[in-house]
Order: sequence, then structure tokens, then C-alpha cells
Amino acid sequence: VALARSRSVALVGVEGHLVEVEADIATGLPGFTMVGLPDTALQEARDRVRAAVVNSGEAWPGRKITIGLSPATLPKRGSSFDLALAPTILAASGELPPAALADVALLGELGLDGRARPVRGVLPAAAAAARAGIARLVVARGNAAEAALVPELDIVGVRSLRQLLAILRGEEPPEDLPPPAPLDHEEPVADLADVLGQPTARHALEISAAGGHHLYLYGSPGAGKTMLAERLPGLLPRLDHGAALEVTAVHSVAGLLEHGRPLITRPPFCAPHHTASVAALVGGGSGFARPGAVSRAHRGVLFLDEAPEFHGGVLEALRQPLESGEVVIVRSAGAARYPARFQLVLAANPCPCGRSGGKGEACSCTPLAIRRYLGRLSGPLLDRIDLQIFVEPVSRAALLDDRWHVESSAVVAERVAGARERAAARLAGTPWRTNAEVPGGELRRRFRPQPRATALLDQPLQRGQLTARGVDRVLRVAWTLCDLSAVARPGLAEVGMALALRHGGVVSAA
Ligand SMILES: [Zn+2]
Repeated sequence: VALARSRSVALVGVEGHLVEVEADIATGLPGFTMVGLPDTALQEARDRVRAAVVNSGEAWPGRKITIGLSPATLPKRGSSFDLALAPTILAASGELPPAALADVALLGELGLDGRARPVRGVLPAAAAAARAGIARLVVARGNAAEAALVPELDIVGVRSLRQLLAILRGEEPPEDLPPPAPLDHEEPVADLADVLGQPTARHALEISAAGGHHLYLYGSPGAGKTMLAERLPGLLPRLDHGAALEVTAVHSVAGLLEHGRPLITRPPFCAPHHTASVAALVGGGSGFARPGAVSRAHRGVLFLDEAPEFHGGVLEALRQPLESGEVVIVRSAGAARYPARFQLVLAANPCPCGRSGGKGEACSCTPLAIRRYLGRLSGPLLDRIDLQIFVEPVSRAALLDDRWHVESSAVVAERVAGARERAAARLAGTPWRTNAEVPGGELRRRFRPQPRATALLDQPLQRGQLTARGVDRVLRVAWTLCDLSAVARPGLAEVGMALALRHGGVVSAA
């Protein structure tokens, strides 16, 4: 009998699916066939696996080899099946006891020299293997720490095919095992204390972090909009374990995990360029659907600098993830789902040439050009943004004066954490955790401000300066101001402040 089986994992989006790898060796002309929807990269696996087997001092069976991958309907891609293919072929040819592959799954690429190489998506693959009842997972040594984030699995990290075969034969004591514990590698984060001046914008950043509010920064180039946006992740609470695993899974599939830093514990920051395509922003691309910027920003911050310069279709594509917190990419092979719950920060110059802010000197833009430029940010998109702030360039005098009361990110993050706790306590039993998520209707029924606190809004509402949605945004921000200062319910002070922040000097295009 020349048949052997092993298991590996295929990824669809961030979902792993167990795959059975079957090798059948028959008499006949030497050949190698693969069935079960393999893509071109998998066909190339044949050459890699054969070279790796030979270069590891093993005998390549000179007969007819047929490889089956099932379920056949599952799309399979890339090189991550190498580590399963090689021992399965050797078991079928009698070089390895088939029982050695019984309750193990294998995932990794082989180099021509037999070296085991890390692959993408190991965390979601390991989670899927554990769910399917697999006890042991073999991965390349470079993936071992990431796989070890799934505690139910016994992880075997191997440097080479030679080492793997020795372990499977029970020959050599596995010298490199067990894998190292996950490291929590720290990197310096951009600190709020570096931003001088901009007291309103700094305050808005704190409110944005505390309430989960999307933020629109509007103002001249050089006013520090990017600097401010980059500091938002440092004000957000660290990811809890569940969120850290979600974020890590996306970055793993995208091939963006840094070596020696298997678990991402800080909210990510993703800033795509304004020339980004729809696929780059929300995911896709030919063949395997890759996670886009919105998913790489999951549980963190998505920053679109020069937002009006983005292609209209790209901005439009933001609406699905903003609404549902995920992206679904439909392909003939099936739908890939990626999480995409992020805080959006948009930045825009006041006009196409960028010089109309401040004193407006040297701006050559016509009023029509300015209207068109700002009009590219559609109403439905801006409707989701609770905070819209005008950021002015800071004068030297203001800088010097402000030096005395800048706060570090750590100080502000502490207030943010307290505010988030108060919001979570009030919202307990609802599907929402931050004020930004609370629907307008609920703000008028269940979470009402103090009586008469909204009197300030009547006039702008009657004059058409404020829409009903605008009122909702003011109330959401007012609640966050309460949470930041431990006030029980919004009063005139909070509503007034929220209204000022809402207007914040932003000129509406409409
Ligand atoms: Zn201009």
C-alpha cells in the first residue's frame, strides 16, 4: 500500500480551513500530479519539495506520485503546503511510518535546500487547527512564536525538513523546542508632548480617543495634521487579548508581522496614500484577496491625509466597513471576510493649493474650485464624523506660551481610559461600547441630556445651520465630554462645548 495522509490548513480571508493532503504512489512512469484546485504556486511546490527532499539526503520516489488536496472546493494558494507534502510523500513511499502524521497538521514553505521557511497567516491557521481538534502543529521555526499564541496546540517549530523528519521518526531529541514564549516587543510611540500649540486640536484628539469618534482635521499644510493623527493610537487603550489576536491575524495574513513581535498589542495606525486603489483600501487584488488598509487599521486608526485627493470610488468604498465593521470580498472561489472596525481620521487642506488658510495670502483658487475640492468628501461620509476641527498654523508666540502646558500621551491616555470605563458602564447591556456607536434615536430616548441643555441647538437647527444628524453628533460628543470630566449627564456646558467643536471653523462645502 503506497498511500499516506496528513493535514494542513488553507486560508480564506482570516478564516482557516483544515485540508487533507493525500499522497498516492503507484507503479508507472515517474510523474507528479496534483488534484484539488491548486493554483500555480502550488504546482511550483512540486519542484521545491523534490529539491528539498533530495537535498535533505532522502530518496525521491521515482514512480507515479498523485497528490490530492481536499476538500477540493476550497481555494488553496501559495507555498504553505510544502511542509505537509514532503513527509506525506515520504510516508507513502515507505520512508516514514504513516502513523507519525496521525494527529499533526503541518504548515510551512520549504526552500530548495530543505530549509523550513515562515509563511503568512499562521495565527488564524493555528486557531483553525485547534478548533478542528488537532493536537500538534508543525511550522517553520520563524512562525513558532506566532503559532504559540494559540495555547491549545503543541507547537513544533522546525528549521529544516531534515529536522522535521528526525522528529517524526522519533530519532533525534528536538533540540530547538519548545518555541520561545511570545515576546511583547515595545516600540516608542509618537508622543503628544511633541505637538506644540494646537490646544483645540489636542483636546479634539483626546475626545476622539475617549468616545471612539471619527475625526476630520481641516487646515493649512504644515499645521501639523499628520503629527496629530499619528498620535491618536497612543491615546487609545491597549488591545485586550481578543482584539490583539484579531489584529495579529489580519497582519499575519497580510504578511506584515514583524519578526520577533508575534502579537500586536497596540492599536495599529494605517495611512494609505491618496493614490491608493479601491483594492488597496478595502482589500482584494488579483487571485488571493488581500486585506486592505481598512483591515490593517482594524481596532486602530485609519488616516487619510489629503482626503479630497482620494478617488471618489475609494472614498465611497469606505461606507461598507464604516457601517458594518467588516469587509466582504466576493470571489468565484468564495467570499473572504476581513474585520475592519477602525477610527477614521480625515485631513484636508482648505483649498486645492493649500494656501487659503490663515490670512489667505497667495491663494490662487477660485471659489468654484474650492467648493469642488471640498465637495469631494461626500455628505454620507462626513455624516459619520462627529468631530470636525479647524487646525491653524501656530504662531511662534503661541508655541512659546504653550510649552508650559503640553501633556504627554501617557497623561492623556489615562483620562481616556477613565472616560471609556464610564461610557462602557453606562452602555452595559447595549451592543455599544463607545459614545460614537450610539445611534441618534437612542440619544433622544435613552441617553438624553439634562432638560434645557439642548436649548443652544434650537436656533442653529431652525436656521438650517445644523441638521438632525448634526444634533446627534453634538450629543455624542457632549456625552464624551461628560465621561472625560466625570459629569453624570450633559448640561449646557457640555452641549455648548460640543457644538463649538462640531463647528470648529470647518467650512462646509454645501
Ligand atoms: Zn488655494
